[in-house]
Amino acid sequence: MSDHGNCHPSRRHSNGTPYNLSPAEMKVIPLIVEGLTSRQIGRIFNYSESTIKFHLRGIMSQMGTRNRTETAVKWVREQENRVKMGRITVNRDDPGLKITLPGGQQSAYLVLSPDEIKKGFQRPLRFNYQHLRCKRYTSMSKEIAETYARDPKFYGSTFCYTCGAHFPVGESGEFIWEEDGTKVGT
Ligand SMILES: [Zn+2]
Repeated sequence: MSDHGNCHPSRRHSNGTPYNLSPAEMKVIPLIVEGLTSRQIGRIFNYSESTIKFHLRGIMSQMGTRNRTETAVKWVREQENRVKMGRITVNRDDPGLKITLPGGQQSAYLVLSPDEIKKGFQRPLRFNYQHLRCKRYTSMSKEIAETYARDPKFYGSTFCYTCGAHFPVGESGEFIWEEDGTKVGT
């Protein structure tokens, strides 16, 4: 459910993902992706099987996934798409905002400042959107996800990783959130 105006401190994620995974969870996730069982992962790290299952539940609760297959698929897709997301900036005069890179992205994307984000935003955050025209998904960085959640109308368009171009968002736009099926930018 949306939770407008609720004040959570903005946490920085140094692991390059939008999730706040613990060091143990970050060690487990690549092996989940490899298809190892909890028992096999436990042997590698000298942990019990139930400890690995505990970490897996922690990962799934943050990622909003229901099982290990879904978790692995979502993780891989997000990693593949996210590494190509452009640089972010809070400076409206950043020259990168006007530069288009060969892959179709802008050199930089404007986001709201951490102070503005701290004033509160809609939760849970959504990180993945589907382009209705090509049916493919793009994952965004945490800062852009927070900006959308703070001000859904902040952006007039967004990038489709598959099409390599920007398309309109909003009520008549071309994107829906994977997480809840609503139109991006509304
Ligand atoms: Zn597309």
